[in-house]
Amino acid sequence: MPPQTRRIGRANRGNWSTLSGRHQIHLLAYGEDLLSRLAQCILSDHAATLPDLHHIVVIFPHHASAARFRRVLLTQSIKQGHGALLPPHTTTLVRWVCKLCPHSGKLLSTTARTALLRQTLLAHPKLCDPQDSWALADSLLKLFDELQTSDHRVADELREFRTTLAKAYGIESHTKEQLGYEASLIHTLWHSWTEQLNEQGLTDPVQAYVQSLNQSLDQARNSRIYLAGHVNLNDVELDWVKHLLDSGHLQIFMEGQYGHHGYHPDTVITQLLDHLNKPDPAAAPINNYGRLLNTVYDGSGQSWYRRIADQAVAAPHSPAVDKLTLHLAADAEREAQAVDLLVRRWWLQGKRHIGVVTGDRKLARRVRALLERAGIQVEDAAGWRLATTSAASALASWLDAIEQNFSHTPLLDLMKSPFVASPQNDNHNDCHSDAVHGLFEHECVLKSQITDSLERYQNHIKQNRLRLIESHGPDSVTALESLLAQFDLAAKNLLKLRDGHHHPGAHFLSALHHSLDQLGMGQRYHQDTVGQQLIHLLSEMGQAAADHNLGYTWDEFRAWLNRQLEQHNFQPPLRGQGVELMGLIESRLYSFEALIIAGASSEHLPGKTPSSAFFNDGVRSQLGLPKVAQSRNILFYDFRRLLQSAPHVVITSRQEEQGEPVIKSPWLERLQHFHQQTYGNDLDEPALTTWVSHANTRIRQVDTLPLPIAHGAPHPAPDVHLLPTHISAANQQRLLNCPYQYFIYDCMGIAQTLRLTEDLEKSDYGERVHRILHAFYADVTELAGPWQGLINEGNRQQAEAMLEDISKQVFLEDTRNNILARGWLYRWLGLIGKFVDWEVMHQINWRPDATELSFDHPLDVDSTIQARGRIDRVDKCRSGFAIIDYKTGVTSSVTDIERGEQVQLPFYALLHGGPVDKISFLSLSKDRFGETGTLDGDNLKNTVTLLQRRITATLTELKRGAALPAWGDEKTCDLCQLEGLCRKQMWEVDDNASI
Ligand code: SF4
Repeated sequence: MPPQTRRIGRANRGNWSTLSGRHQIHLLAYGEDLLSRLAQCILSDHAATLPDLHHIVVIFPHHASAARFRRVLLTQSIKQGHGALLPPHTTTLVRWVCKLCPHSGKLLSTTARTALLRQTLLAHPKLCDPQDSWALADSLLKLFDELQTSDHRVADELREFRTTLAKAYGIESHTKEQLGYEASLIHTLWHSWTEQLNEQGLTDPVQAYVQSLNQSLDQARNSRIYLAGHVNLNDVELDWVKHLLDSGHLQIFMEGQYGHHGYHPDTVITQLLDHLNKPDPAAAPINNYGRLLNTVYDGSGQSWYRRIADQAVAAPHSPAVDKLTLHLAADAEREAQAVDLLVRRWWLQGKRHIGVVTGDRKLARRVRALLERAGIQVEDAAGWRLATTSAASALASWLDAIEQNFSHTPLLDLMKSPFVASPQNDNHNDCHSDAVHGLFEHECVLKSQITDSLERYQNHIKQNRLRLIESHGPDSVTALESLLAQFDLAAKNLLKLRDGHHHPGAHFLSALHHSLDQLGMGQRYHQDTVGQQLIHLLSEMGQAAADHNLGYTWDEFRAWLNRQLEQHNFQPPLRGQGVELMGLIESRLYSFEALIIAGASSEHLPGKTPSSAFFNDGVRSQLGLPKVAQSRNILFYDFRRLLQSAPHVVITSRQEEQGEPVIKSPWLERLQHFHQQTYGNDLDEPALTTWVSHANTRIRQVDTLPLPIAHGAPHPAPDVHLLPTHISAANQQRLLNCPYQYFIYDCMGIAQTLRLTEDLEKSDYGERVHRILHAFYADVTELAGPWQGLINEGNRQQAEAMLEDISKQVFLEDTRNNILARGWLYRWLGLIGKFVDWEVMHQINWRPDATELSFDHPLDVDSTIQARGRIDRVDKCRSGFAIIDYKTGVTSSVTDIERGEQVQLPFYALLHGGPVDKISFLSLSKDRFGETGTLDGDNLKNTVTLLQRRITATLTELKRGAALPAWGDEKTCDLCQLEGLCRKQMWEVDDNASI
């Protein structure tokens, strides 16, 4: 150790909680601000060289602490009169040693290693099921990493390896069945793997790291190294640290206490110090609160009740009050609101170092959204999985679109993505940013009910181009056409790889890159920080595939890509202050002004006990591999440390999640019970529950505009130029049912909301039946028929057979796409006999004259208005015509028709001009088959006359500016989509309020 370090160490001896050896191990009491102490120590140790600290290396377990440390160091150096510093090198151990002694050979990338090992596994079909190959490759690599960083060596001979395992398991004979598979899998694959790497001149990155560690010792001695917060070092790292500690070139900083083993927060510290041969440091000073926590988690074997009694005597008043609050929320949303409220309260109190530590990423996202709504920016030290970013979502949508024959769902997602350089995103023409995907969604999907196939979308646009240009403008139509053409072109090479065969992985990656460039996504990714990482990952995968001749089917390639996106994290840059969200590990070196440990359920603290695919803990211990329980002990240590890392800590959990009870973390449960039984309170703050449930504590956007005046039902009077220039049965019925509907749909021209129905629905069934009956009497291309002559008992079988043929042809497309559509077909086939029965009787007096008869002519009383309609069927007899409307659903009653409540049939009679002898519905339902709503003679004549008069009067009134009030009755309103516009709920409430 340099003389000045020794001198400073002695001078500061009283300041350190615990100094061990030659002051090289700084074991700080829980609650000490480690970064501050570290900065203080560095400034003292190197006072002679200030402000130059560039020869110093500070090694953190996680890069998240670096920004905060630099700020702490600068603050302290300013206090000592140094306004600027040449800062120390802050890094992680892996990065530093690999930079110090870079590997000279060819390094296997981390992206390539799983893929390559999986390929090796597939070459041993007896050892591995291809379905499990990815998961097994992951487990094996984890084991290989542990083997490479431990002192254990896998024997060359399988027999010898089996003997070692048998001993570790305590089994006498190494030929025992249960050892056979595990031993031979590990032995065979370990040797295959190492031989394969040797043959290819490759070095595994973990092996390279181990070599760098061993080679870097001499060079490392040229630096002054500070190792902070490392409590989990492997054997090779421990050797490295021990050498540098012994030569006086390295100091260790960590929080904790020595002396505990087993399931205890301090076990990791005890094990580390024992491994470094630095046991038994002097006990660090500990305050009452720390003593209480030590008693709660005591592992000495002293009974629970003895500990409670001792604690009550040692500290009659709880030292945890005002330091620790435990909050149990009703559910996840309430828990997020509690965290949001606490942070905002602390922020208003001027606190600027606030931590929210949680392993629950869903909760973290919700908290972040709530705080950002309040204008508080949150730093996320844990980062995000690349798969959850919008850049990766756009890529997934593109590949989903290719896999699903350009299904409308991924295609729409892609069109809306800012990463696609579509014409509307590039503003090459005047169309609005939403216009193109709006046009696609409305016209190609909802209106035409086309759910997939680029060709079908393109054909639809081609066939309806003029209409679409008229309604959406030429720019939008052209932009959509070129966008679909762009997708078509970009997909070509990728589609060739979807043939179920194996192809070189490099082909997938190059086709993918090419397609991204054609969509403009490549360029946009380069302009985005996440996009750059994504492109880098794809390039690495491409390189790995090319270097190692990796071959995949399309599905295997996607599985590989998805795993890579899940395994890589995006880490936004950190400032090291403000409100920070993080996991337990990232919080290792932090001290806060206030802290929340959120989501403290057993699911996250400690979470599922990690299991190893190979060996139990006893065997791992015998083989010198880290025990599985080690990771749980590290979490326990981090949890215990956090309890003293801020003057005020709040731990939150919740009672239930989606109706299921949530089990509290056992560490929280133990703390709460101990406190309850010792001091009679469970550390809850009831006021917090009250505040959270109070609406005034939530952030609301306050509009300063005056509130709208309460009003009743709307009754707009449309300007005359808004009045429709045609009348139809539908718009006359709307005028009757609720004039406001007429105003919205017919005057304002707002279209009804369309809905995509991938399954055949009742309305589609009705449309198919109408088509069948039309084809039965008229010539329809590609369908059988039409029927010639009359139907009678003599030819009814042929008529039924023809109807069956037509029916199967009409339903063909539906039954091909969806097996459920067959139900609708069979339902209709079951009615054909009844239909022919009816025809036989009906045709005694009537002859079919026309089907699907369209009318569009000026109205007699006002030639500026067109009368439009299409009548399902017109039959003829000697005296006149019969108008028939097919109905597969409900029909109107004669009374309603006569009263003028239902206008469809009388309106058709008016359109036709006559002489019309009869109007009726033909109900095509199993239970009510036959004519209904029939009107003839004077009744018909009077009803039509009344309708004609009403139409004339209404047109006159509308031209005079009559209002169109909303007055739908319950039945009409139930089927109406306009409630949000007419605000019926609002005016009903107002009406009640005024009573
Ligand atoms: S919800 Fe009722 S009142 Fe409102 S527009 Fe529709 S039918 Fe008319």
